[in-house]
Amino acid sequence: MYAFTRYFHAMSKTNCMVLFIAILLLIAPGCGSGSSATDENIAGGESQPRWSLALHGGAGHFDSEDLSAAQEAQYRASLSTALEIGIEVLESGGAAVDAVEQVIRILEDDSLFNAGRGAVYTADGGHELDASIMDGDTRNCGAVTGIQGIRHPISAARAVMDRSEHVFFSGHGAGLFAREQGLESAPPEWFDTAKAHKRYQKALAKWEDKKMGTVGCVALDLQGRLCAGTSTGGMTFKQHGRIGDSPVVGAGTWADNRTCAVSATGWGEYFIRTAVAHDIHGAMLHGSLSLEAAARHAIHEEMGALGGTGGVICVGNDGTIVFEMNTPGMFRAAANEAGRKSVLLFADEGQ
Ligand code: ASP
Repeated sequence: MYAFTRYFHAMSKTNCMVLFIAILLLIAPGCGSGSSATDENIAGGESQPRWSLALHGGAGHFDSEDLSAAQEAQYRASLSTALEIGIEVLESGGAAVDAVEQVIRILEDDSLFNAGRGAVYTADGGHELDASIMDGDTRNCGAVTGIQGIRHPISAARAVMDRSEHVFFSGHGAGLFAREQGLESAPPEWFDTAKAHKRYQKALAKWEDKKMGTVGCVALDLQGRLCAGTSTGGMTFKQHGRIGDSPVVGAGTWADNRTCAVSATGWGEYFIRTAVAHDIHGAMLHGSLSLEAAARHAIHEEMGALGGTGGVICVGNDGTIVFEMNTPGMFRAAANEAGRKSVLLFADEGQ
């Protein structure tokens, strides 16, 4: 080092400058904006995932005693099928918005869940579907509420985001727009599933079955883009025109590359009253809370404190995956580039 310093002093100013530029050129590739694989994979000595994915199939008051072993196996299998679709998209370099849409389309076709095909019945005995999607890269979003006869409401929401100058369509207009965009229609029989019908009959008799089963997905892609989406049939026996949180951007869905992507499920009225998904983002952006602390606060201190129930799935812009709920169960699954893969049903199953 001493010899190097003496040599340095002995050099002319021009030579010094040339040496300085050469050193800069040599080290520049390693100190760019963090886009090289090495930089992104090493954070505090731990490997950090470059893509991350989480999904849910609804939160509710169920525990291991409410599900038979066969039912439990069915839920786990369905969640993991949807998870694999998302992994495939993200692993091959696909966009977070595509991963979210593809995952939710699979769940919408699965009658186990309260979205698309398995949507619950309204008080009038019909099906009015809600969905929303938000691209955290552009903060563009699209939503539909009370849409009828469309097989994949999440794709209708995406079409609103990508192909209209508006962000939210309702009822008849939402259906017209979706059909104009060439989205697949489905006849009323498609939505007449035994499970949803049983819930309806129970609700008719007792007016108290508020079973949930909404689906949602959040993703971070290899380009660092976040996306969140949510789709639901709403709450069993909902009154005509009732809108929950799922299609309300800021309540049931939010994504912003600066912070996180969030999809919620639960008692929609409470999620709207406390703008849960945006609250988590805001606490991170303006209050510097971690994703975990922000989600915990939103679910327990805000939404839960008013008497609401439900949960959220979140992915941070560093790939962190967080599940938070105040119900005994939430159907959920997650995967990331670092090799995590989990399918969980009950709250006490851990992250
Ligand atoms: N949040 C949905 C709604 O209130 C229901 C659910 O998540 O199960 O419409």
